[in-house]
Amino acid sequence: MTPMTSDVAVIGGGPGGSSAATHLARGGLSVALFEREVFPRFKVGESLVPATMLMLERLGVLERVERGGYQIKYGATFHDQETGLGHTFYFLEGMPWPNWTYNVPRADFDALLLDHSRKQGVVVHQPATVSGVAFDADGVTLDVDSGGDRLTHRARFLVDASGRDAFLAARRGRRSRVPNLGKVALFAHYKGGARFPGREEGNVRIYLFEGGWFWWIPMANDLTSVGAVVHARVVREHAGTPEALFAEMVQRCRAVAENLAGAQPVTPIHRAANFAYTNAPVVGSRFLTVGDAIAFVDPIFSSGVFIAMRSGELAAQAILAAFADGRFTARRFAAYERKVWRGVAPFFKFIHKYYEPSFLDLFLQPRDKLGMVRAVLNVLSGGAFIRMPWRVRASLALLFGIARINTWVRRRAGKPVESRLEW
Ligand SMILES: Cc1cc2nc3c(=O)[nH]c(=O)nc-3n(C[C@H](O)[C@H](O)[C@H](O)COP(=O)(O)OP(=O)(O)OC[C@H]3O[C@@H](n4cnc5c(N)ncnc54)[C@H](O)[C@@H]3O)c2cc1C
Repeated sequence: MTPMTSDVAVIGGGPGGSSAATHLARGGLSVALFEREVFPRFKVGESLVPATMLMLERLGVLERVERGGYQIKYGATFHDQETGLGHTFYFLEGMPWPNWTYNVPRADFDALLLDHSRKQGVVVHQPATVSGVAFDADGVTLDVDSGGDRLTHRARFLVDASGRDAFLAARRGRRSRVPNLGKVALFAHYKGGARFPGREEGNVRIYLFEGGWFWWIPMANDLTSVGAVVHARVVREHAGTPEALFAEMVQRCRAVAENLAGAQPVTPIHRAANFAYTNAPVVGSRFLTVGDAIAFVDPIFSSGVFIAMRSGELAAQAILAAFADGRFTARRFAAYERKVWRGVAPFFKFIHKYYEPSFLDLFLQPRDKLGMVRAVLNVLSGGAFIRMPWRVRASLALLFGIARINTWVRRRAGKPVESRLEW
C-alpha cells in the first residue's frame, strides 16, 4: 500500500498538538495530525492563564473562543486552612495580555482548537492511534491504527504532542519522575456548587488543607470542576473506593465542604497519578516534542494548557525555519529546547517553593515592595514564558531571598520549615 505522506506528522490533538499543527499549516506546510480519541472527550485542566489569550489570538481562533460563552476569570484565590491565611491575586492590567482569561470545559475547548486546525488545512485523522515509529535519513514512518485499519504514514518531520503518554520518550528515551512529587488527583464536575459574587465568580480557588489541596474552578452553566491533590501515600493507605476517599477529603477541607453543600456530581470521580516528571529527549534529528510530552510538574498554577500552546508555537517556528533551509538535525532544534526549559523554569520553581511554609507565608501575605507582587503576577499570568524583563527577574530573586531568610527565622522560632511536598 502506498503510504500517506505529509511534511509534518503530529501525534496528539490536545492544545499542544493542535497549536503546533495550526501554525505549521498556516506557515505553508502539509500537516497530518493523529488523535487517538474521538472528541469531545473529558479532560482535566480547565483553568487557563491570561497569556493563553495571546496564543489564541496568534492561532487566529480568539474570536471563536470568545463566542464560546466560557466563564471569565479575573484572578486566583489561595487559602490555607492550617494558618487561616488567604489572598486573592487579580491579574494585572496594561500587560501584553489581558487581565482576564477563561475557565473552559476541556472537552469543548480542545475540540474547538482541533476543529480550527482542520479549517486551517491540517488533515486530522481521528480516532487514529500511532503505534510505531521508525526514523531514517529522510524522514519518519509511522504505523497507525485507525478504526480497525492499519495504515503507514510517511513524513519529513515528527512532532510528539502525545501528552503524558510521551510517545517518543516512552519508546526511545527516558522518563524521570520528579522526586517527592508523588501525588494523586481525584476530580469531578459538579452542578450547583457555590458561586461567588461579581468579578470573583470565575476566580480559580486553591484550598490548602492538612491532607493536600483542592482546586475549585467555576465554569459556565453552573458547572464547577473540583479536584483534590493528595500524596500517593494517602491513596495507598486508604482501603475504600476513590469516591469514599474523595468524600473524606471534602469533609477535611471545610471551605470545599461548604461550597459543595447542595451540589451534585455530573461526572464520575476521575483519577490521575504520577503526573510529575520530565522526559528526554525533547528534540532530535527530525523530531521534537511539545507540551506535556516534555514535562509536567503540578497543576497548582494552571499553567499546563498555556505551556502546551506556547511550546507548540515555538516548535512551529523552529520547524518552519528548518524547512526553509532544509536541515533537520538535532542541533538545529537545540535553541527550541533551551527556550522551552527557560520558559517553564519560573513555573517549576514557584511550584516547588509554594510547598515551603516560609514561601507560602509570604505568598499569602504579599507586600507590594520592589515590584514583588507584579513579578508574582507575571508568573501566574503565564507572562514568564513570553518575556522575562530583568526587573521581574530581580524581584523574583528578592522574593526567593526573603523566603530563605524566613526559613531561618522560622527554624529559630521552632516552627516547621519542611516542604509540604512531603505530605
Ligand atoms: C490533575 C491535573 C490538573 C490539571 N489542571 C490544569 C489546569 O487547571 N489548567 C491547565 O492549564 N492545565 C492543567 N493541567 C494540565 C493540562 O491538562 C495539560 O498540561 C494539557 O492538557 C497539555 O496539553 P498537551 O496537548 O500537551 O497534551 P494533552 O492535552 O494530553 O493531549 C495529548 C493528546 O494526545 C493523544 N495521544 C496520546 N498518545 C497518542 C497516540 N499514540 N496516538 C494518537 N494520539 C495520541 C491523547 O489522546 C491526547 O488527546 C492539569 C493536569 C493534571 C494532571
